[in-house]
Amino acid sequence: MSEKDCIFCKIAAGAIPSARVYETDDVFAFLDIGPVSDGHTLVVPKKHYAHLEDCPPELLAAIGPVLGKVAKAVVTAMAADGYNILCNRGKAAGQVVEHVHFHVIPRKSGDGVFHRWPAYEYKPGRIEELLKKIREKL
Ligand code: 5GP
Ligand code: ZN
Repeated sequence: MSEKDCIFCKIAAGAIPSARVYETDDVFAFLDIGPVSDGHTLVVPKKHYAHLEDCPPELLAAIGPVLGKVAKAVVTAMAADGYNILCNRGKAAGQVVEHVHFHVIPRKSGDGVFHRWPAYEYKPGRIEELLKKIREKL
């Protein structure tokens, strides 16, 4: 998806309306139009980067405080018991809009929003194998 066709670039520019809850020079936050819970908010850099790892470090540093500030406001305003921060990266992970964004999803105890986290155990030796692979890429 190019910048020209990007819905979040259009929202950032004000060409498409949004319920904007907060903004800084580099980052803005608005209510998700398809919420999974009341107050579900997206935190988005104003400049177009498709993926988290494309963002320069200064931008990531600017996003962090906005995430914290918005999450605190949303969880308090919704009288929620907690929240999830979610970044879907790539189609396989559920990313639909290819402009990096973070979901802030307020949660109530027992709301069943993410019903099951399919955790499993590593077989012996697998952790060491994976560690080596990942560290080689850093
Ligand atoms: P993704 O699946 O890419 O992580 O999430 C994209 C999110 O953007 C979805 O939750 C979807 O509801 C939201 N979204 C898509 N288009 C619009 C829009 O035009 N306005 C707003 N406010 N949210 C949108
Ligand atoms: Zn964009």
